[in-house]
Amino acid sequence: MSFDAAAYDAFYRLSVDDPHTFWATQAKRIDWHKPFTKTLDYDKPPFAKWFVGGETNLCYNAVDRHLATRADQAALVAISTETDTEITYTYAQLYAEVNRSAAMMQALGVRQGDRVLIYMPMIAEAAFAMLACARIGAIHSVVFGGFASNSLATRIDDATPVLIISADAGSRGCHVTPYKSLLDEAIALAQHKPKHVLMVNRGLAPMKMVPERDIDYATLRAKHLNAVVPVVWLESNAPSYILYTSGTTGKPKGVLRDVGGYAVALATSMDLVFCSKAGETFFCTSDIGWVVGHSYIIYGPLLAGMTTILYEGLPIRPDASIWWSIVEKYKVTRMSSAPTAIRVLKKQPLELLQKHDLSSLKTLYLAGEPLDQTTSDWISGVLGVPVIDNFWQTETGWPTISIAKGVGDKPARSGSPGQPLYGFKGKIINEETGEECAPNEKGVVVIEGPLPPGCLQTLYGDDERFVNTYWRNFKREAYSTFDWGIRDADGYYFILGRTDDVINVAGHRLGTREIEESISSHPNVSEVAVVGVENAIKGQCAVAFVILKNAAAATPEDAHKLETEIMKVVDKRLGPIGRPSHVYFVTALPKTRSGKLLRRSIQAICEGRDPGDLSVIEDPAALQQIRAVLVTS
Ligand code: ATP
Ligand code: MG
Repeated sequence: MSFDAAAYDAFYRLSVDDPHTFWATQAKRIDWHKPFTKTLDYDKPPFAKWFVGGETNLCYNAVDRHLATRADQAALVAISTETDTEITYTYAQLYAEVNRSAAMMQALGVRQGDRVLIYMPMIAEAAFAMLACARIGAIHSVVFGGFASNSLATRIDDATPVLIISADAGSRGCHVTPYKSLLDEAIALAQHKPKHVLMVNRGLAPMKMVPERDIDYATLRAKHLNAVVPVVWLESNAPSYILYTSGTTGKPKGVLRDVGGYAVALATSMDLVFCSKAGETFFCTSDIGWVVGHSYIIYGPLLAGMTTILYEGLPIRPDASIWWSIVEKYKVTRMSSAPTAIRVLKKQPLELLQKHDLSSLKTLYLAGEPLDQTTSDWISGVLGVPVIDNFWQTETGWPTISIAKGVGDKPARSGSPGQPLYGFKGKIINEETGEECAPNEKGVVVIEGPLPPGCLQTLYGDDERFVNTYWRNFKREAYSTFDWGIRDADGYYFILGRTDDVINVAGHRLGTREIEESISSHPNVSEVAVVGVENAIKGQCAVAFVILKNAAAATPEDAHKLETEIMKVVDKRLGPIGRPSHVYFVTALPKTRSGKLLRRSIQAICEGRDPGDLSVIEDPAALQQIRAVLVTS
């Protein structure tokens, strides 16, 4: 069947030219308790209200409505290679657990509109809690488990939860992190004090319970075993959750999302972006603490009537075949992960990745960081499935730039995540003039309002910050992604890095991504971070930190030879202007807990400044290494 490009484009055009008709049609994918009276209210831009007057419920759509047809189908499979457990919950069992969880929350005084902070490892109870909040109209705020106390405290103060749900501990690579003590410290630090703390005891770490405030999950659950908690029907624009951005560029922003718009956007993306069907299995390797986890571990696959995998553990423990054994066992059809995880696998023996029968797997989706072509080609070759790059943000809630294979088989283009997806009026604009850039001219990736369903409504409790942060950066009103990019003559977008990371060499502006992409085409480069460092003559110059595939090659002589080779690769692909002034070899790079490179911290160290808030860093030793190589070179 030949692909009809015109049909794909017409589909997109309808979505942005006539969003009312387009989204009213998509809204039929979910069940409405009461139909909406207006598809879109955009009377107060940039605040978009979708499906006004309609009443629905995320939990009902994710769980209850499947009971008639798939009560005995697996809904959630919770696998932990940390505790060696594997539990399957059918839709009927999930329904029962969510009702228990909802009843427990109500018993602890949680009412519609109250915030519930979920600080939990990747265990099934976390999913029950999210869905239970959705059921009773409480607003959940999941905070990545294991975040340090001060990060947690700022989120407690921002979200002011009446209840916090947590567990004794999380575990990573068999290293146990006691959450309870971190949580107690955070509550002590925070101004706001929750009324109750509900604790799941996994038996991993001792817990000191605070009398009256702290409640044991198992004890309370036993009192609500037969609970049936009615769904609270919510107006489509009622808030569903708060989720803080990763904090890569500074203070995290509390993204607030609605109910109806989010449900419709996710249900649509499950079909059109992820080509998924009810009854199939979806495996998203992210964490519930991130947006990808919210949308594609919990809500998206369940809205679609799929089986979803909740995996606690590393991709390489007990060995690098673990994910693929899950794919084989549960016949995973679609998998979603991040480039950073794939780069970890790249250093593993190939046999482990090919040990299992992967015939059920149809596509791998990657998001969260720029996907370099070398990594994409490598994993696609190893797994024998296509790889699709998804560009999106905590703010957008679902993929923004990609190829919607469910709309049509539009070909991908090397190095590009694709084109703005239906609903997103993407543009590349010149920061200074606010004018749209010509093809292949660099600018900021923006989205013109109204943002489609599923995107943030505002920043929690701060409409002004929402407007000022995202919408008032240019001479025209547009939502800034704060990413820098180009659009080619055929409408494919290329992300060149964050606007914060743009390097200005003698008046030429270069995205970190451009230089990183060319460096990673060197056969011995496994990972690379490029930052702009102050330079008296050129303004800034690029400096690269490289992790080699074959670290043994990094003897001083080899290092010098490699540095020259890498510089030549950049010269050839970008010209001398992009050539890094130095290439340093390290074995780890500083990343956020969600696996994003912390260029601002690397840059600060290179310029002798304070690297900033270290609590977001996964491995602080990586920063030490950067300091060390700068001193010794
Ligand atoms: P903060 O906004 O707090 O600084 P963050 O931007 O890292 O944190 P997220 O919302 O988790 O928080 O990440 C979104 C960002 O990740 C995007 O703006 C972009 O920079 C990057 N990103 C996501 N997907 C891709 C992709 N496919 N290609 C390139 N970059 C991507
Ligand atoms: Mg961001």
